[in-house]
Amino acid sequence: MRIKNLVAVAAIAALGLVAAACGDDSDDSSDVEVADNPTFAAGTTMERLANAGTINIGTKIDQPGFGMNNLDGKPEGFDVEISKIIAGKLGISPDKINWVETQSAVREEYIEQGKVDFITATYTINDKRKERVDFAGPYYEAGQSLMVRKGDDSIKGPEAFRAGDKTVCSVTGSTPAENIKQYLANEASQLVLFDTYDKCRDALQNEQVDAVTTDNVILLGYISKAEDAFQLAGDTFTTEPYGVGLKKGDTEFRNFINDVLEEAAESGAYEEAWKNTAGKFDSNTPELPQIDRY
Ligand code: GLU
Repeated sequence: MRIKNLVAVAAIAALGLVAAACGDDSDDSSDVEVADNPTFAAGTTMERLANAGTINIGTKIDQPGFGMNNLDGKPEGFDVEISKIIAGKLGISPDKINWVETQSAVREEYIEQGKVDFITATYTINDKRKERVDFAGPYYEAGQSLMVRKGDDSIKGPEAFRAGDKTVCSVTGSTPAENIKQYLANEASQLVLFDTYDKCRDALQNEQVDAVTTDNVILLGYISKAEDAFQLAGDTFTTEPYGVGLKKGDTEFRNFINDVLEEAAESGAYEEAWKNTAGKFDSNTPELPQIDRY
């Protein structure tokens, strides 16, 4: 009976995904401006990419609203739109972008190894990561939160984990996975880690864990796809400024991306990108945060 129910739930969820993906297809990607043969100083990353006419960009593919593959296998979301705006200023149209899935734990490594030219992937700027990569931005500010099954009011915030009887799922190499540890009585028995958040969402749905923790906007994306299944529990309890990750020491490229972000805020492209993506379930249209030109 229980298995039957799970199969039914899975089937309904799959139908929902198909419907959502079909519905979103028509209007999720905005028309980004593509510069016509832009010129850049010799030897810069901008010149190299503009000459190549293609670019490798890292993003997530399982996070509705920020980076999520549609049925054609192309990612959509706010991170994806921000990337398209940057590529456009290099004269690279969206169809010339090679998208690379960058799970939380591999982001620094992929940048260091040159597997991607930059990353937009709900990537929190912090000092530890700055030892290995540089960040343009921030272009958005999220905060860590918790998601539980609909109707479960036993968890109202991270303090609920101190008693030691509740379990929480997060992703390896993410800031929320590190930060939640301080609230756990027993890390080994309470913290479940996967490589992607959709696995945590499934574990929550299947009652294998009691909560999922990561940034509020990622959780809101999952809730928007399954409002009867999940809810947020409590307020945000960290600040997660999202940056565009790039090779350490490439100050010209970092300055260029920072300029692009500021121009996008002025032209309205930033707001448009939000409204076409995460803005569909989060009506608080953000303003571009103060860029940190460190
Ligand atoms: N923003 C957090 C981080 O960069 C959580 C989201 C993620 O794992 O991408 O670790």
